[in-house]
This record gives sequence, C-alpha cells and structure tokens, in this order.
Amino acid sequence: MKLKVAEAFSQADVGRSIARIDPACMGKLDLLDGDMIEIEGRKLTATTVASSQSDIGLGIIRIDGYIRKNAGTSLGEEVTVRKAEVKEAQKVVLAPVDQKVMIRGDVRGAFRGRVLSKGDIIVTGIRQQQSTMRGSLFDEFFRDTMSDVSPMGELKLAVVTTKPAGTVKITEMTDVEVQTEPVDVSKLEGVKTLVDVTYEDIGGLKEEVKKVREMIEIPLKRPELFERLGISPPKGVLMHGPPGTGKTLLAKAVANESDAHFIAIQGPEIMSKYVGGSEEKLREFFEEAEENAPSIVFIDEIDAIAPKREEVSGETERRVVAQLLTLMDGLKSRGQVVVIGATNRPDALDPALRRGGRFDREIEIGVPDKDGRQEVLQIHTRGMPLDDKVDLDEIADTTHGFVGADLEMLCKEAAMRVLRRVLPDIKADEEIPPETLKKMIIKKSDFKEALKE
Ligand code: ADP
Repeated sequence: MKLKVAEAFSQADVGRSIARIDPACMGKLDLLDGDMIEIEGRKLTATTVASSQSDIGLGIIRIDGYIRKNAGTSLGEEVTVRKAEVKEAQKVVLAPVDQKVMIRGDVRGAFRGRVLSKGDIIVTGIRQQQSTMRGSLFDEFFRDTMSDVSPMGELKLAVVTTKPAGTVKITEMTDVEVQTEPVDVSKLEGVKTLVDVTYEDIGGLKEEVKKVREMIEIPLKRPELFERLGISPPKGVLMHGPPGTGKTLLAKAVANESDAHFIAIQGPEIMSKYVGGSEEKLREFFEEAEENAPSIVFIDEIDAIAPKREEVSGETERRVVAQLLTLMDGLKSRGQVVVIGATNRPDALDPALRRGGRFDREIEIGVPDKDGRQEVLQIHTRGMPLDDKVDLDEIADTTHGFVGADLEMLCKEAAMRVLRRVLPDIKADEEIPPETLKKMIIKKSDFKEALKE
C-alpha cells in the first residue's frame, strides 16, 4: 500500500522507531499495534507500527527523521508500506555514532522488540532505559555525558551487522553487542547518511518550516518541477530574527532532509580569522558547495560580511561584499546550491544583497509563543527522566520571552541540578548504586530553581 510520509506526530514517538498509520489502512494491511512493517522509499527499512486515530482517512504514515532517512524518503513523498516478514535476530552488533560509550551488563532489555537492519541508525533515549536497564547503558551514558551533556540526551547507534541478514527483530534470545569506539558512518557499508537535525527537532516553527521546504528542499530534490513551470528556484534565502530562535537549526534540518552538503560560515569569523584572505576563503566555500551539490551554504551573522556599503569603513569589507555578490551571481548549478543568510539586523544589510537573484526570499523567525515554547520544551526533555509532576505546559506559561536557546539551557540546567545532587554519592570507577540511579529524576523543583538563575 502506498502512503504519504508525514511528520512524527507525538514527541514521544521520535527516536523510538514507531510509525503511525491510520486505523483503516492498518486493517487493510492486516496489522495490529506493535506489528512490524517494511517501509520502502529509495531504501528499505522496517519498524514497529501503531495506529493513529486522528489520521483516519488521510492516507499518511507518520515517521520521524531517523526512519525517513533509513527508508530514503522525505516529507510529502510516497512510500510503499507492507507487513514485514521479520526474522528473529541471533546476533546484532551496534556501534555508537558520535561519542564513545562504555557499556557493561546486559543491554538486550533496552532494545528488545526493536526491528532493524544493517545500516540503520537508531536512537535510544534515556527515559526508555531507565526502567529496563538500570546499571548498564543508563549509568554509563550518564557517566560519559557528565562533562558533555549531549544535546538531546539521546544515544545514536549504527547497526553494523545482523545475523541473519535482512530485517531482524531483537528478542530475548538475541546476542546484542555494543562496540565502544564510535564508527565513522561514512565508511560503514550500507549505512544511510547520518541524521543530525530533523524537522522534529524544531519546536514551534511550523509555518517557517513549510516555507523553507518549499523554497529550498523541493528545488534541491526536485529541480525538474521548477524547470517545468519555467521558474527559477531561489539562490538565496534570508532568515532574520533574534539570536537563539532556531535559524541555524532550521538550516541544518533542511540540509539534512534534502540530503544536501552543508557548509556553515560564521560572518564575523570570515572577516577576522582570514585577515587579507577573507574573499579567497569565501570563494573556496562556494567552490566546495558547487563541487558537492546539492549544497546549502549557511552564512550566520551575514551582516558582518555584507553591511550597508555606506557604513563600511575599511577596504576589506568593501571587497568582501563585492565578492559575495559576485559569487551569488555566478552560481550556475540551477538551484543546486542555495545560500541561506541569517541575521538579527536585516536593515543593516547591504540592500544590493536583497535584490532579485540574490537573497530575494525572506523568512522571519520570531520569538516563540506559548505553544511554541511548549514544543521546544518537549523536544529538549525528550530523552530526560522527568518526574510525573513536571508540567511543561505550566513552564511554557511562565517563560514568556524565552527563545529556543534559553529553553534548552533551562532544561539542561534542571538536569544539571540532579547531577550535582547525586555526584557526592558517586565514586570514580565504581558502578553507580541503584538507589542513586533511582534518585536521578528531574523534578518540578529543579525547573523552578533553574528558572531563578
Ligand atoms: P539562531 O541560529 O537563531 O541564533 P540556533 O538555531 O543556533 O539559533 O539555536 C541554538 C540552540 O537553541 C539550538 O541548537 C537548539 O538546541 C535551541 N533552539 C533554538 N530554537 C529552537 C527551536 N525553535 N526548537 C528547538 N530548539 C531550539
């Protein structure tokens, strides 16, 4: 059955490998909640399915960015969905993707029921492990992240091999091995590109995401649609809004979801770091983009590179603005390189930059409203062990004026308070006592205190 791909609906599903489809389609495919399905886009993957009551009759399948990557598909595309023939795994070897982890003890519990195949990237949140795997992955994860709290509190693992090959399910009988050293995913055979940021990691910017997809993702992925209509896709999109509202996040997500090469340039750094060589450096970045097209060049604080010419004092600035204009005018590869500029001072920009054929599309990224804040809070607490009394709705209510970055800091600070509380009980190189693990729950009061800081 063909279904159209939509965003994962519930934050709780993200990273848990659950696909949601409408109950009518479930019936037609002879599926029950918890069954396995195969999803075939440009690649084939398998996952657990559950029904989505609110989607009756829509003909969609809701899957998160990880499953979309594993199936080689993206939002709005059609995939073929069928009931999966899943073999029981005898052995599965996993390896961490971006950080070293040390895992002792039995980790099967954390993955029991997972359906996967070689090359999949799977994520596992702490909240899940908490009940099933005390004393193993959970504490090791925390140990590793004490100095460096992972942004989402989630652990990313690549499936290195499975036995038998194909789509397998982890059961009680499966021997699960988790390697310590991170793998270089680009070298791993069959591994699908690493997911970094997906649209589900962005809170509260629904309209903006929609615009960005239309302006950037669709032209990058389906240039023929624009050609057919005789319109040229934008070369440049300017995002403006206060710092910390998710401009960089959005640029990364669209690059990732479009399978585009991503180049990030810091405006002020280009000016200061390569004294005398700023133009040259800029040219190199654009070359890299064309060579690796489809590409997205993201220029943060673009006002530092291209301020209004009358405000420009030095000769260097003048030359760099001119260079940027030349580079943008020279982009040939028909919408296969898109430049995203970000600024919180759009009025300080050289107006020549905003003319046709350059940054001629603009998207405002504003401070989130209450619903937006709640979504951001959900995203940043996704992998955290929260006490039942923590009420994100209430926190969203009391954080007027907070941008995404502030809310992220708030969640991390609340988690750090828990860490500080238990640190005295933890001795180096010793297993964390179970009573301590039990105490590692983030409480309402932790958020309250964190808010005061
Ligand atoms: P900007 O580029 O607008 O200055 P960033 O995208 O760099 O802001 O945001 C910094 C961090 O704050 C992000 O990495 C993310 O963790 C968090 N953040 C900001 N906005 C959002 C949002 N809308 N949803 C979720 N997280 C956000």
